[in-house]
Amino acid sequence: MKVLITGGAGFIGSHLGEKLLELGHEVFVIDNLWTGKLANVSKIQNARGFHLVVDTILNESVMNELVFKVDHVYHLAAAVGVRNIMDHPVETLDINVKGTETVLRLANRFKKKVFVASTSEVYGNHMEHTLSEDDNRVMGSVKKRRWAYACSKTLDEFLALAYFDEKKLPVVVGRLFNTVGPRQTGRYGMVLPNFVQSSLLGKEITVFGDGNQTRSFTHVFDVVGALIKLMQDPAAEGEVFNIGNDHEVSINELAQKVKEMTGSPSEIGHISYEKAYGPGFEDMQRRCPNVEKIRKLIGFEPEYDLEAMIQSVIDYFKE
Ligand code: UDP
Repeated sequence: MKVLITGGAGFIGSHLGEKLLELGHEVFVIDNLWTGKLANVSKIQNARGFHLVVDTILNESVMNELVFKVDHVYHLAAAVGVRNIMDHPVETLDINVKGTETVLRLANRFKKKVFVASTSEVYGNHMEHTLSEDDNRVMGSVKKRRWAYACSKTLDEFLALAYFDEKKLPVVVGRLFNTVGPRQTGRYGMVLPNFVQSSLLGKEITVFGDGNQTRSFTHVFDVVGALIKLMQDPAAEGEVFNIGNDHEVSINELAQKVKEMTGSPSEIGHISYEKAYGPGFEDMQRRCPNVEKIRKLIGFEPEYDLEAMIQSVIDYFKE
């Protein structure tokens, strides 16, 4: 099969490309290298059946040709990282809204199946329970810039489902929960690479806020396997899935665990969100998926537990 991955030189996209090549598919990647890197695809760039186009998904003629050529599209290109989103609000909205609109419109032109990567951010600020796909969303004020990202991704989901309902375009939507693993950079804010790098360098491990906020992490290899299985299953079409791990950990616990596992002398410090991201920032205090739906459909069981995930990131940075 021929497959297009938008954002295929990014952290998740590059692992997905590797896996699809391994399975014998021909892989086309489009990436503008905003947060993606050529180094991410260095292992596969000369592989048979791998094709890289460095361009933006907003370039219609290039995208038209690519979408025409392939059987499936994995749409992963998006603004990523809380720091990026806070620093580049216009580009964030532009790429997440216009980019996805372009991908879906062209996919519909040639009736190509699309996976749309969404995010757990669309749930907003829930506290009470684990998050199920049909839950209400709890969004903050428009003055809080972070919600622009959540809303742009929500719009992507609406558009994908609209194409499914109205145009019969086969789409699958996946909400990714804090994916971690090799190649994830800390530059755009992500917590685990930052903690591991600081620990290995003996620098302060800096927790934002009081550190009691929780997250549920999933290894990128587990995520990539889930994306491929979802795209292979006709029953996933027109549906939204949480893709995550229901093991919850506080950021304080995560910092402590990273410190222990690296044997680092680093201190664990705390700074305010305002200091970390500037004014107008709001964090989610809790975020844990209910994974019944994906478990039922494709038997999804993450293989990596928290320690294995941390270890894989430590190994990556040591290398
Ligand atoms: N965080 C932190 N220190 C860092 C980076 C992030 O304490 O160096 C916190 C952040 O405030 C959030 C959690 O770790 O509560 C996860 O942050 P990340 O940006 O990785 O993901 P998201 O906020 O999108 O879940």
